[in-house]
Amino acid sequence: MTSAKEVPILNVWQLYIGTEIKPKGHSHWAACPFHADKTPSLNISSGLNRWHCFSCGEGGSGVDLVMRAKGLGFREACCQIEKDFSISRDGPIQLITVRKKSPEQILEFQYFGLIDLLLLDKKAIKLQLRVFSDPDQIPGILVHQLGKIEVTLDELLMGNIEEKAAALVRGLKGNGQYRRDVS
Ligand SMILES: [Zn+2]
Repeated sequence: MTSAKEVPILNVWQLYIGTEIKPKGHSHWAACPFHADKTPSLNISSGLNRWHCFSCGEGGSGVDLVMRAKGLGFREACCQIEKDFSISRDGPIQLITVRKKSPEQILEFQYFGLIDLLLLDKKAIKLQLRVFSDPDQIPGILVHQLGKIEVTLDELLMGNIEEKAAALVRGLKGNGQYRRDVS
């Protein structure tokens, strides 16, 4: 059975969003339709069959894209995709074959996962900082953590391949404890 989630993300984008997408490396970039986006900050990964906007944080599967773009619920969005791509729930024909994830795809998944985690951490720390009206009262550890997160994010997003790899390894080592051990 083929599900709505398995429809290639680029096809979903073409049909429901339709704006220009630019290939770059292993993925594609587009201007995000969900915030005022001057430069294309929305990443579309065919390998993961997912999309993610680095500016506003929106992202997910093709189903999430249709939900967000059309204001539909999960079930409605699935039905819409199934209808538009002629997918039969009971049909024996596999319209789309889904390959096992390659090591590159797993790496890409970890890469975007770490960026997501760091962006969440950054948001959480910034919220904590807002409590302090007097800058002198801000605990040094928060400033320190924020600095580390920003450095790592810079390396992950804008670094060369070695810097990206080093930042990823460092981040994955931290794993779930990234909040406690940011170094
Ligand atoms: Zn966005």
